[in-house]
Amino acid sequence: MAEDKMKVVAKDKPGPGLAYREAPIPKPGSGEVLIKVTAASICGTDSLIYDWAPWAAARFVPPRIIGHEFAGEVVETGHGVTHISPGQRVSAESHVFCGRCLQCTTGRHEVCRGMRILGVDRDGAYAEYLVMPAVNVWPNHPDIPDRWASLQEPLGNAADTVLSEDVSGKSILVTGAGPMGLMCVGVARACGASTIIVSDPNPYRLGLAKKLGADVTLNPVNESLVDTVNAHTAGNGVEVFLEISGAESAITDGFSSLTPGGRASLLGITKGPVGIDLNNLVIFKRIRVYGITGRKVFGTWHTVSNLLASGRLDLDPLITHELPMREFEKAFGLMSKGQCGKIILTP
Ligand code: NAD
Ligand code: ZN
Repeated sequence: MAEDKMKVVAKDKPGPGLAYREAPIPKPGSGEVLIKVTAASICGTDSLIYDWAPWAAARFVPPRIIGHEFAGEVVETGHGVTHISPGQRVSAESHVFCGRCLQCTTGRHEVCRGMRILGVDRDGAYAEYLVMPAVNVWPNHPDIPDRWASLQEPLGNAADTVLSEDVSGKSILVTGAGPMGLMCVGVARACGASTIIVSDPNPYRLGLAKKLGADVTLNPVNESLVDTVNAHTAGNGVEVFLEISGAESAITDGFSSLTPGGRASLLGITKGPVGIDLNNLVIFKRIRVYGITGRKVFGTWHTVSNLLASGRLDLDPLITHELPMREFEKAFGLMSKGQCGKIILTP
């Protein structure tokens, strides 16, 4: 029957592209909730799946509805769900953790070893409805609009990157001004960083970085990153280096721009192993290095929800496009050209 169907964006077979088609509306099982999606945002991972990049070809098994960043409203709860009710506005942690491994049972769900990812290992949010385990559901703050609530998931990655250590009063270098780097700029600004320097070869994205609070922007193809950083830090180098591009030159130049005793947090995923002079760039400078993956469940969600609800972090300059979900082709075209910040799709 027509009313049991919904429209979805799915990867139906290996290879580039996605399908816009009908699918059955899922039923919430025990411990699950059915959510009506009101906003879903596009992540770089979705572009990798769209393009059928090597990561997707090795990891992704079609057919699957994609998408893992969203906001919506609970419409039905399965057996045993007591803390979530129909009508509640929610988002969700996209990493469906096992709850039993060493990491989960010691409070480090972000590195769960039995993790299943929404929109990769189970049907995702580019749909009118999706089912989530109730333990993953995050009730949205009444003052946070859905287009921002959908961004809490990636904003959590950014918050963990920026806030691996305190940033108040510190000088910060962000390499890469894609959506993730831009969010790092916004969080660092909201949390009291002093000078924020941002590098990216894409001038459009450097413009967005200024809007989110960058003090200095540079194109590393035309200008020396180390010289620019030194010029704006009295020759000391920055105290904090946030690597959000995955580019090898950004990694080496970023470590070279760090002041001795500084801190680096690495979020950008490299194409493969990278070479770095560990002795001179890390060890002899006593640099503290953090690898960042996912978000803390739910510590980081509290942080980003509080930042957004307080009005200290404005995500609107980051949201460059809002499109109906059926126009997903246009959205992925903008993503591949880098002519966008965050794109919101509405079912
Ligand atoms: P993106 O591809 O949109 O942004 C990367 C940006 O880096 C682009 O704007 C690009 O122009 C810029 N860039 C390229 N070479 C550069 C250089 N040498 N110096 C400075 N900038 C350079 O990706 P995104 O969605 O913003 O994500 C950023 C990175 O974070 C990606 O590598 C992504 O895979 C990774 N990521 C990791 C996690 C995690 O959990 N670890 C989560 C989300 C994203
Ligand atoms: Zn686990």
